[in-house]
Amino acid sequence: MLSVVLPAYNEEKMIQKAADTIDRILAAEQIEYEIVFVNDGSKDATWEEIEKAANRNPKVVGVRFSRNFGKEAAMLAGLAEASGDCCAVMDCDLQHPPETLVEMYRLWEQGYEVIEGVKRTRGKESALHRLSAGLFYKMISKAVKIDMSRASDFKLLDRRAVDALLSLPERNVFFRALSSWIGFKTTSVEFDVQERTEGESKWSTRSLIQYAIKNIVIFSTAALQFVTCAGVVVFVAAVLLAIQTLVRYFAGHAVEGFTTVILLILSIGSLVMISLGIIGYYIGKIYEEVKGRPRYLIAKKVGKGR
Ligand code: UDP
Ligand code: MG
Repeated sequence: MLSVVLPAYNEEKMIQKAADTIDRILAAEQIEYEIVFVNDGSKDATWEEIEKAANRNPKVVGVRFSRNFGKEAAMLAGLAEASGDCCAVMDCDLQHPPETLVEMYRLWEQGYEVIEGVKRTRGKESALHRLSAGLFYKMISKAVKIDMSRASDFKLLDRRAVDALLSLPERNVFFRALSSWIGFKTTSVEFDVQERTEGESKWSTRSLIQYAIKNIVIFSTAALQFVTCAGVVVFVAAVLLAIQTLVRYFAGHAVEGFTTVILLILSIGSLVMISLGIIGYYIGKIYEEVKGRPRYLIAKKVGKGR
């Protein structure tokens, strides 16, 4: 059986549509399935829609978070709730085409354990967005040693891969990269990102930047290495300046140079503060991990046997 996990945050208009579309496509292909909706603390009628969908179709189950925990947590909760031999994760705004699910499922039948959805095109984006996304994925790709530039959260995982993912102890997760990190027999399927038909994207520029920083920090120590590199550069400059200063001192004219002093204090001061900030951010993430709080809290479930 295939479990389709759909995280939903303020998607009241999309629940029924998503359930119907997936039902139609999978039923036509005679693929046995269940749909797992995870309501990530929505403020609209998403949960009522999920309950309705579950009452109408016994193959639909739903999980409701006690508040908004974010998409990563929602995807993991869906996977934990799913009982299929393989599980697919996709957006419930149908920007991930459900037709591709069938293609993924067929590959799974051929023995692949991780089937990654890869974006053929990145959809409509501004130049700045494209540039920063490019930089972000370069850093992440280096950390996981796999090209992630066209990666998405649209995937199909074998039961073994799902169990491996769920057994990872960390609280802060970046699903997109972790599914590559776990390994297994992997292949990919290209898809075109669809236009959103209802509702709106939950991402603002600010939240995207925060998301990028958080995932770089939880997945790689590259930023910490930046601190070391910057330290080395400043050290080399310091040696050169020290030599110049000493030469001037012995030559007998050492009083000038206030501009240099001011510039040095400013630049080294800011560098030290930025470095402390980076280290502080990592410590913050370690603190969150050490507390060991659950990734999410479930308030309610609907569906057969729940
Ligand atoms: N989502 C979620 N929790 C959040 C934000 C988003 O579960 O806090 C879900 C959302 O309902 C959708 C998917 O994640 O199914 C992708 O969100 P969105 O369409 O806003 O992102 P985009 O497609 O613009 O990257
Ligand atoms: Mg979307």
